[in-house]
Amino acid sequence: MTLAPLSILCPQCGSSDVVYSCKPDCCFNHVCSKCYTTFEPVTTKVGELKGDVGPMPPDADPTAPTAACARCGETKLFAVVEAGTPSGRLLCVSCKALLALELSEVSPG
Ligand SMILES: [Zn+2]
Ligand SMILES: [Zn+2]
Repeated sequence: MTLAPLSILCPQCGSSDVVYSCKPDCCFNHVCSKCYTTFEPVTTKVGELKGDVGPMPPDADPTAPTAACARCGETKLFAVVEAGTPSGRLLCVSCKALLALELSEVSPG
């Protein structure tokens, strides 16, 4: 298992050119650079990592997509990659919760 920076596709046009436009202490509003659709990612806990997290990827830049852990509220979430294939799950490296990502508040631009 390896960890990769979070990437979120626009729910409207499928672009990966998505920018986080706010701060975690305010809201999780994201905006698509292609079609200006806005949305907020939310997570639900689906499991628990047993064992070590392994090597951490470097810190993402502040405008990279992010979301809050459903359990602890931290924003240290990474995509879980199994044998080179994204598993669709996220890991909170603060509390080791495995999370599923959903998009809410979708507002087409
Ligand atoms: Zn879009
Ligand atoms: Zn957590």
